[in-house]
Amino acid sequence: MLELTTSVQYVKGIGPRVAEVLAAKGIHTVDDLLHYLPFRYEDRLNPRGISELRPGEMATVIAEVRNSGLFRTRRMPIFQMTAGQGRSRLKCLWFHGAYLKDKFKPGQMVALYGKVEMDRSGDLQIIQPQFEIVGDASDDASADATEQKVAASLEIGRIVPIYETAGQGRLTSRWFRRILRTALDNLPPELPEAIPAAVRRRLALISPREALCKVHWPDPGESLQALQASRTPAHIRLIFEELFLVELGLELKRREQKAQTGIAFRLDDRVREAIKKILPFHPTSAQKRVLKEIASDMEKPVPMRRLLQGDVGSGKTIVAFEAAIIAMENGYQVALMAPTEILAQQHHFSARRILENVGYRIVLLTGSLEDDRKREIRRHIAHGNAQLIIGTHALIEQKVEFDKLGLVIVDEQHRFGVLQRFKLMKKSEDRVGTASSATSTHVGTGHVGTGASPVPSERSERDPAQMPSMAHDTPPEPDVLVMTATPIPRTLALTLYGDLDISVLDQMPPGRTPIVTRRISDDRSDEVWDFVRKQVAAGHQVYVVYPVIEENEENELKAAMKMYKELSKRVFSDLRVSVLHGRLDADLKDQVMRLFQKGEIDILVSTTVIEVGVDVANATVMVIEHAERFGLAQLHQLRGRIGRGAAKSYCILMTGGKVSEEGERRLDAMVRTTDGFQIAELDLELRGPGEFFGTRQAGLPSFQVAHLIRDRELLEVAKREAAAVVAGPTAEISQEEINRALRHMRARWQRTYGLVEVG
Ligand code: ADP
Ligand code: MG
Repeated sequence: MLELTTSVQYVKGIGPRVAEVLAAKGIHTVDDLLHYLPFRYEDRLNPRGISELRPGEMATVIAEVRNSGLFRTRRMPIFQMTAGQGRSRLKCLWFHGAYLKDKFKPGQMVALYGKVEMDRSGDLQIIQPQFEIVGDASDDASADATEQKVAASLEIGRIVPIYETAGQGRLTSRWFRRILRTALDNLPPELPEAIPAAVRRRLALISPREALCKVHWPDPGESLQALQASRTPAHIRLIFEELFLVELGLELKRREQKAQTGIAFRLDDRVREAIKKILPFHPTSAQKRVLKEIASDMEKPVPMRRLLQGDVGSGKTIVAFEAAIIAMENGYQVALMAPTEILAQQHHFSARRILENVGYRIVLLTGSLEDDRKREIRRHIAHGNAQLIIGTHALIEQKVEFDKLGLVIVDEQHRFGVLQRFKLMKKSEDRVGTASSATSTHVGTGHVGTGASPVPSERSERDPAQMPSMAHDTPPEPDVLVMTATPIPRTLALTLYGDLDISVLDQMPPGRTPIVTRRISDDRSDEVWDFVRKQVAAGHQVYVVYPVIEENEENELKAAMKMYKELSKRVFSDLRVSVLHGRLDADLKDQVMRLFQKGEIDILVSTTVIEVGVDVANATVMVIEHAERFGLAQLHQLRGRIGRGAAKSYCILMTGGKVSEEGERRLDAMVRTTDGFQIAELDLELRGPGEFFGTRQAGLPSFQVAHLIRDRELLEVAKREAAAVVAGPTAEISQEEINRALRHMRARWQRTYGLVEVG
């Protein structure tokens, strides 16, 4: 007998080698295996007769192999197989099909799937069909007659699931079908149920066992369309469960956070005056509203966990500074963290301009400082001499001892994954936990990097309705404000930041003229450089951006440097041209940025290091070379560097060489709109959620069956139901059911995030 938690190794037919292949796909347990869902289904219950096929349609055909062979054309070898039903024939072609040479034997039954076409002589054909030889168990030498019959019944006469293959095609769709059958046959008839009965009733959810069976063995009457759209009752049950458990975890974290003791900052007239004093302009009404939301969080004795979302250029920085003043005026320190050193420098630069004049003490702490200097700065921080500490996240990854940390601001959050955020908050909690207790002076050497479990803790399980009060034995938690420029569609924000409250800056500061975006081929670069020259003559500054793509960083960097030489020595030899890229040492970067900021550089040739946050209002032109190589979000971020002042700004997308279809859509979107939300929606569509958030390190909770875009509505429902469950027992939902749901949730979080951390 198997259980869901059993390792796949113990499923009959899976040895250690296969288990390894499965592990690479994230399949470790029987449960994982059963959640490996088909990506499409074939109707082999009512397959099409060849004679009724119409050119242009996608069709499944089951037919008999008549003959096959490889023939060579001048351009490539082509493998041809002709299948037949009675007198009808269907030709199948595979380009470069030499690998199929001994695949088909006359008389075999084969299921074919693909797009039907008419060849030049009017015969029907399918090019590169997906195929499967059916009802043939001869490749399992050991299979006895009944097994062969079972195998056959898995492949024809029903709606057949098609799985993505694994291990370079070694684990075929057909293999998955059989192994899944074996796994299901060996599971107990009742599987554990995570979802409370009342919720199940309300949403008419079927049992987990039934759902798993039907998703792999659809009923003959099931709608093919519902199957393909993942909208059968079986799909809905599985998807809902997954979303429900994730939301349950987020909901619980949120409650735990709310139950902790925070700092109740005072917001009196003196503080208000201090804020007014620094404002270099009238805040927009969105900025006012958002500050109010933040301030009201800060006043409460509960730690703030808030996400500030606002498109590039919407003015998040000043809001952050205002929040910082509230903390500093209350005698607390503030840590402002940025994802890159350049951005940290930029913040330091603005902070000094805006805050230092009025007497706040600001330091910049980045990884690249000399050790002596770092030590000195740390001493200032520990003694409370520094009030605002700006740095990269090296700031928290290394040992920093705060005197009295009250607020942590994390800028450009989309650069950090969700997991990193969990860790990071945890660390700031750890640190403050020790640092602000009156007796301790030394912090942070041993426990950094450990104990940062993102799994919602045990504590609340006993009674989620009654949060334990910890006021007596734990020091207050600092407030956390996370800022992001990625406009995240609401439902996604619910998942990604379900544990945070959200504020949105949905208005741009006044006096901006929209950026004009144009696309031009790089064989017309002379015209572009002429235009650049005119803008510089008018007193403006220009960015020229060159892509550096990771795989080929060395070469790309060479290309960027070559470009720089070309521009500085030849095209603009009379202008002040500088270069900025990731490999420059920090001092030099800093120097270049300062000069550009001061207007002492006309043209800044750069890689994407300037992508985030850099703010120079006088820069009005951005030329992006090889724009087709950039992602949409990246282009949008880059373009956000201009259009920051009153003068009209121009973004010129130069393309070189052939542009892919997707590239065309990206460029087109850039020319059409500057609305970050529209761009984000399209980006999401083009790339899918994982890529969208740049979460190669799996910043997103990785979903087995749910799809954040397709399943938005279910996500909303799951969120609602999860909140109700966490709120505590009712006449409908018993404490026992709640505990059960939480147990499932914890197991899932542990597994998912645990695995993610290893990989
Ligand atoms: P982001 O949200 O991208 O971080 P910034 O905070 O860098 O945006 O602000 C973009 C620019 O707009 C900065 O030059 C900033 O000084 C300016 N700015 C912000 N708020 C206002 C405002 N209310 N009125 C005028 N200019 C503003
Ligand atoms: Mg910013």
